[in-house]
Amino acid sequence: MITVIYPGTFDPITNGHTDIIYRATLLFPKVVVAVASNPGKAPAFTLERRVELAQAVLEHLAPVEVVPFSELLIKFARSIHATVILRGLRAVSDFDYEFQLAGMNRRLAPELETVFLSPAEQYTFLSSRLVREVSALGGDVSDFVHPLVKAALNERFLKTTK
Ligand code: ADP
Repeated sequence: MITVIYPGTFDPITNGHTDIIYRATLLFPKVVVAVASNPGKAPAFTLERRVELAQAVLEHLAPVEVVPFSELLIKFARSIHATVILRGLRAVSDFDYEFQLAGMNRRLAPELETVFLSPAEQYTFLSSRLVREVSALGGDVSDFVHPLVKAALNERFLKTTK
């Protein structure tokens, strides 16, 4: 049975992530969403909160498991017996970095294959960073995130829900 691991910061999880994860469930029997602690990125939400939100948002997708990790991705992937790494490609601008990352991971762990999925068109411009910025400045992010994530953003940035 193939296990696919979808690693990311998920700060916070957006509808773009969820779209990719849903597509992955149609292709793989088990999808592990691996939330990276990523202290280097100074995330807006704690690791626990990012995991909690992803779990709540993905609750309806049975073959999906959400777990935190803080070690090297390939080590963690091996430890859970994942054989495929999933990443999302929104636009050409993602390609450079994602291609480098896939190359490095292949060099470190040749048995792991990286696959890319692209989201539905309406999510190609969507990123956690933009969602945070729009929310922090009082914009409405209802079209981009689950209502629970919207509430968490409102709480995080201390403003009232519109
Ligand atoms: P990271 O810090 O590892 O880039 P992210 O949570 O930002 O973590 O993204 C995780 C993965 O999901 C990356 O491969 C990224 O390209 C992809 N991704 C992020 N947003 C979207 C989106 N709107 N549509 C498709 N893929 C996305």
